[in-house]
Parts: sequence; structure tokens; C-alpha cells
Amino acid sequence: MELNRRKFLTTSLMYAAILAMSKTAEANATVRKASKLVERILQGQEQPIHVIWIQGQTCSGDSVALLNAVEPSIVDVLIGQVKGVPPVELNYHPTLMAQWGVDHLEGPEGPTAQAWDANRILEEAARGAYDPFVLIVEGSVPTEDQAKAAGGFFCTVGEKDGEEYYFEDWLKKLAQRAAAVVAIGTCATYGGIPAGTPNPTGSRGVYDVLGRDWKSALGLPVINVPGCPAAGDWQVKTIAHLLLTVKGLLPPPELDEFNRPTFLYGETVHETCSRGVYFGLGEFSKEYGAPFCMYALGCKGPIVHCPLNKTGYVEGVGMCTEYGSPCIGCTEPDFPDEPLAPFLKELPTFLLPPETPTPVAAPASKGAAVAGAVVGAIAAGSLVYAATKKGSSGEGETSE
Ligand code: SF4
Ligand code: SF4
Repeated sequence: MELNRRKFLTTSLMYAAILAMSKTAEANATVRKASKLVERILQGQEQPIHVIWIQGQTCSGDSVALLNAVEPSIVDVLIGQVKGVPPVELNYHPTLMAQWGVDHLEGPEGPTAQAWDANRILEEAARGAYDPFVLIVEGSVPTEDQAKAAGGFFCTVGEKDGEEYYFEDWLKKLAQRAAAVVAIGTCATYGGIPAGTPNPTGSRGVYDVLGRDWKSALGLPVINVPGCPAAGDWQVKTIAHLLLTVKGLLPPPELDEFNRPTFLYGETVHETCSRGVYFGLGEFSKEYGAPFCMYALGCKGPIVHCPLNKTGYVEGVGMCTEYGSPCIGCTEPDFPDEPLAPFLKELPTFLLPPETPTPVAAPASKGAAVAGAVVGAIAAGSLVYAATKKGSSGEGETSE
């Protein structure tokens, strides 16, 4: 256990140092500050940062993925299984909630109703008892007014004395106090599958509920870590960065126009795909299991930003395109709708400029000229897509 704790601290410190290196003037001061922090943590002098993790419309896949984070294992850190004073305390998580288990059965409070009242933690957090805390949101946010109009409700985080604790209300309430808000997974970031057409619950991502211009107590916008689900290591790396930001050791992570950290989502699947060599040669798989580029099988890699080919899913292994599955664009705001759907068909031609050949014709041909034309079409299509994505701040010009 001690080893895990050290790994976490060392990784955080290394992470601070590596990022600081890009800003040479600040590097020494940042690393010195980080070293002191690590020393204080090791001596048990550092106050923990609290984490409140709430779930809306979700399959809990991101929580499962978090449990698979390996280096460091955030689970050891978050649920307090690491000996000593943990620098992070997970105060609320509907799936884990380890602190509401045997410790309370055997602890001084005993199995009292109050000790088991998870709502109490949310109420205390909303009153400031856990400041500073990082609010992590998993799952999309349904529009409760729609449900109320029909006499029901969509999603709650609890209830007390007959009063429903609506997820939408508690997200807004907790966000008011949060030092930082992180949306984990594509449901929480952009609505994801619950928001797919026809979106019967009026689901939205957190930054559409709070507002694109919304800022946390630390002045940060909602940080989005999309993926269906987001790999555990992407979650841990982003959370580790934010913990250091909360401690004043790092500037906030640089974000793209959809609030994704660029250190993770800065490249497309296509740019990091080992099958790219076949794309360049005009060699396209015509059936699953073939080792060539899967563009003709519907791969959306050229217009999708995702770090999977660099990070793997668990312990550096498990990548969609590497392992023979076309990318379906699960990290993108439009997922699971067009133009990412239909998942296993080529990108729709309306995304491509009219003067360029469509990639549909490309698999039947080979050679540099054809490959070059496809590259040109895809590059142009990517630009058009970037300007038309759901919620894009671009002008929205289309080639239709
Ligand atoms: S189109 Fe898909 S399979 Fe082909 S190189 Fe790009 S990302 Fe890889
Ligand atoms: S490669 Fe594509 S389908 Fe696979 S995780 Fe990344 S965005 Fe999702």
C-alpha cells in the first residue's frame, strides 16, 4: 500500500516537473513547490482535498474504468485504503462509498441512521463542509422540467421525507461551491447515448447545463474527459493535474474548444493509428479482421480526437483501431449521432467538399494518386466537421 501511495506522489511530482519544463522560467520554482508539497504529504501535514462524485444518467462505465486505472491506482488513493493521511478523500460516490461500510459499522458512530445517510454528505458539501472540493460528474443530465410536466421525474441522487433530490438541482447546487468541476465520460461531457436522437429525457452535458461560460470557485470552466467510457488513466491524469492546480502548483490544463485537455485529446485517432501507413498506400480493409486501414469499413478516426492509440485502455493495451475495430468517435460531442453514425459506414459525403472524390470509391483503387485524393478529401472533411460539430463555436458553414 505504501508503495502505491509513493507511486502516486512520485507520479504527481514527475507530472508537475514535466509540464513545468515547457515553461522553463517557472520550472525550478514549480518543482521546488511540488517537492515541498510531497514532503508535507509524506509527513501527514497536508490537508486532503475532498472529492464529491455524483452520477446521473449513466451505466457507471466510467467508475468501472476508474477502477482499472493502474499507474497510479487512484482507487487506493481515493477510497482511503492507503495507510497514512491521504491527500485526497472521496467523500461521496454512489457506487463505491467505502467510508459508509464496515468502518461505520465498527466505528464510534456505529450503524446509526445518520452515519448511513448519504444525503447528509451532499447537504454538508453544499454548505461548505468539504471546501475545497472537486466535483466529478458521471452521466448525463436530464431536463427535469420535461418530466415534471408529465407528472414524474427522470433522475435523482436520493430522497428524504418524500422529497426527491433531483440530479439536475444537486449538480447546480454543488457546482456553486466546487473548486473545480470535471465531467467524466461522454454522457457527462456532451450528453452521450442518453442524449442521442430523439433524446427523450432532454439530456445534456454538464457544461451545457451550467453554461459554456460558467466558472468554478477557482475560475475554471467545466473540464471534459469524454469517452464511452473514458479510460481510467485519462481520468486519473486529469484529476491529478487538477489536484495540483487546486494546490497552486500547475496552471489549469489547456483545453480545446470542447473543453477537453489538449495534453490528452490534442491529436486525432487517425494521426496516431498504426494503420495509417496503409491509408497512405491506399490499402483499405474490405472485411473485418483484415490488417489494412479501416476507413472503408466506417472508421471515423480522421475526425475524432482521442488518446487511446497512445495510452491504451488498461496497462497500455487495448486500442480500437489497433485491434481491428473502426473508431466510432465516442469522444466527440455528436456521438452517437451523425456524422459518427452509422458507425460502420464511411463518413457521409456531405462532410466532404464537393470538388473532392469521396472515399467510398477509394477502396477499389490503389496507388499514391488515389490515396492522395482520399487524404485531401478527409482533411477537408475534417475541417468542415470541426466547424459543424454540436455546440461548435465555429461559423457552422457546411458543404451541403
Ligand atoms: S482511417 Fe481509421 S483505421 Fe485508417 S488509418 Fe485512419 S484511424 Fe487508422
Ligand atoms: S478510438 Fe474511437 S471508438 Fe475507440 S475510444 Fe477512441 S474515440 Fe472511442
